[in-house]
Amino acid sequence: MILNTPHTYCGYVAIVGRPNVGKSTLLNQILQQKLCITSRKPQTTRHTILGIQTNDVYQAIYVDTPGIHMGEKKALNHLMNKAAKRVLHDVDVVLVVIDATRFTSEDEYVMSLLQHLSVPCLLIINKVDKLVNKADLLPLIEKMQQCHPFEAIVPLSAKTGQQVSLLEQTIQPLLPEGPHLFGDDQLTDRSIRFLCAELLREKIFRLSGQELPYSTTVDIESYQDEGGLVRIHALIWVEKETHKRMIIGNKGEKLKAIATGARKDIEKLIEKRVFLQCWCKVKSGWSEDEGLLRQLGYD
Ligand code: GDP
Ligand code: MG
Repeated sequence: MILNTPHTYCGYVAIVGRPNVGKSTLLNQILQQKLCITSRKPQTTRHTILGIQTNDVYQAIYVDTPGIHMGEKKALNHLMNKAAKRVLHDVDVVLVVIDATRFTSEDEYVMSLLQHLSVPCLLIINKVDKLVNKADLLPLIEKMQQCHPFEAIVPLSAKTGQQVSLLEQTIQPLLPEGPHLFGDDQLTDRSIRFLCAELLREKIFRLSGQELPYSTTVDIESYQDEGGLVRIHALIWVEKETHKRMIIGNKGEKLKAIATGARKDIEKLIEKRVFLQCWCKVKSGWSEDEGLLRQLGYD
């Protein structure tokens, strides 16, 4: 009899689904920490965010993909689509997230991407907290079983956390055997600069209203750690003068609120005092410019 064999398991888990189904919320719920931004506005996640969860012998490395879009002509979306598709073939488990209350043609498009995929897929039916009648799930589950041979179908609520631990238990046996790739207490390998930019983006979207297009982006120009104080200069890129006015607000009040909110979050994240200076600049038509996108790190 063999005792104490040190079996460990480690794998990459992609989270895919159309914008707004709750991918970022789910990842945050799993990691119990706010590493990626969430918003009612689609497409606030533009980078692939890596979150790591280690539970005893199991290590799952989560990849949050940018939304998969259909019929969008803009270069930005084209790049995001390519990134999302590449992720699918390069992981050990795929979590496909849909919204229990709304199945759209974009969801169908996501399903069609699974067709030639040999990676095990789990279907997550999110936002079940919004269902008045839980029996409404049954026809949806039946329909989804015909779409793809999912390993399992897990209805849950990323927002309340209901059934999320069941999902984690369902993922574990799908992780391949192997050494842990990250330290057991490590949550992300994204740079602090990147997380700062994401926190700032979140505040911009939360505070400047629904009309602001997702093409708004943030560039951390400098990040200087002076011991007790960290000085950060951030540049907010927008497409139009009107968008700039939306961000700056009356007498600069909006931008001030955005910067203050982001500064507080960053201070919590890095546990240091932060001096955050934000500028807003117009770069007309930048989302058409793949070269600049690559420069900003969206490749
Ligand atoms: P993503 O675009 O797929 O990453 O979606 P987000 O995680 O940003 O979520 C989009 C919106 O749906 C946000 O307003 C979330 O608060 C909301 N949301 C996400 N999960 C749930 C859920 O389980 N229940 C409810 N009621 N809302 C949710
Ligand atoms: Mg997201």
